[in-house]
Amino acid sequence: MNHERIHDAQQRELLWFPFYMIYVLEWVLRLCMLRSWKKAYMAISFERDAYAHGRDFGYLSGRRRFAQWRRADA
Ligand SMILES: [Zn+2]
Repeated sequence: MNHERIHDAQQRELLWFPFYMIYVLEWVLRLCMLRSWKKAYMAISFERDAYAHGRDFGYLSGRRRFAQWRRADA
C-alpha cells in the first residue's frame, strides 16, 4: 500500500531508529495535548503525510525530503 511506502521513504531519510524515536515522542506529546490515542495518532506528522497522499501513487516520485515537516504549499 502506498501509505506504507511513504513511511518507508520517511524512515530511509531519518534512518530507522531516529524515525521511531521521533514517531513515539511526537505521539506521546500529542497524546498529552489531545487526550485521545486515535487523535494523537492521526496528528503525527508522519501519519498526516502518509494519509494525505496514501492514494496518490505519483506522490513518492516527486516527494521532497522531510515533506512531513513542510507546509503543503512550500
Ligand atoms: Zn501510517
